[in-house]
Amino acid sequence: KAPCVARRLSVADIIDLLPDRPRNAHKGTFGSLLVIAGSTGYTGAAIMAVRGALLSGTGLINIAVKESLNHIFEQTLWEAITTPLKEGEDGGFSAEGIKRMHEQKSRSQAVVAGPGWGSGKGWSEVLEGLLSQADCPMVLDADALNLLVGRLHWLKELKSPVIITPHPGEMARLTGMSIEAVNNNRLKTALEAAKQWGVHVVLKGAGTIIASPDGKAVINSTGNEGMAKAGSGDVLAGIVGSLLAQGMQAFQAAAVACWIHGKAGDVAADVIGKRSITAVDIINALPEVYRRLE
Ligand code: AMP
Ligand code: MG
Repeated sequence: KAPCVARRLSVADIIDLLPDRPRNAHKGTFGSLLVIAGSTGYTGAAIMAVRGALLSGTGLINIAVKESLNHIFEQTLWEAITTPLKEGEDGGFSAEGIKRMHEQKSRSQAVVAGPGWGSGKGWSEVLEGLLSQADCPMVLDADALNLLVGRLHWLKELKSPVIITPHPGEMARLTGMSIEAVNNNRLKTALEAAKQWGVHVVLKGAGTIIASPDGKAVINSTGNEGMAKAGSGDVLAGIVGSLLAQGMQAFQAAAVACWIHGKAGDVAADVIGKRSITAVDIINALPEVYRRLE
């Protein structure tokens, strides 16, 4: 399927780009996704990302979590496998935990990293390890992006596509620009960052921009201000990861995920109203969005 370089994606583009679901499929057909997320106080972010991915058609989801939090994920995410890992001293995992994380990654078609990591310095070793052995496509969101501030050289010589999903505040920190400057030059900022850092950039907010390192860009047309709630971005990271695990190319996966995520926000807003929708309502609207695309 040819890359879509239109400025705005239409429903027809989305239907065309979504991976087929053959009648004789088995769960292996739809890929494995590894989600590395969550810490004390932020287990919700991990759960949102995994739920977003589960409802987007991935065959198998594995969540790498700190040992002490494992029971929470066992009880809330029945459909996912959990990989409890030994913890690091200040966030992240121990050396043994990181080794096991890499073993799980080698069995996955895509990785989502960052939601709910928190600010512990130990996560930098997790991120550095992931980027130095980037042997499958990866989505970096939230705290993984905060760790990249001042360490953008870690993105050099990537072996696989990386998608970063900053909101304007995260983008401002990454670029050293003000939030206002980012928002006044959204397309240019996203395109320049993508080119300079060699990654796909999803610059979130009203009219999310999706930009590729080779200069393609689209603007998302779905979504609404009711989605400006905690957890909303974590759901998006999970959807992007899910589509990557199903074999979509990075730019298409990012663009289609943004459209679907925004559409789920619009469907939720129709039923519940913009004021009261939460990230969970976006998740719960996903089946209706996919059903309409079938
Ligand atoms: P985060 O700040 O990481 O939770 O991400 C927020 C999510 O909600 C992103 O996908 C944004 O694009 C979306 N969002 C936030 N505000 C708006 C808005 N005013 N219009 C459309 N989408 C929005
Ligand atoms: Mg976020």
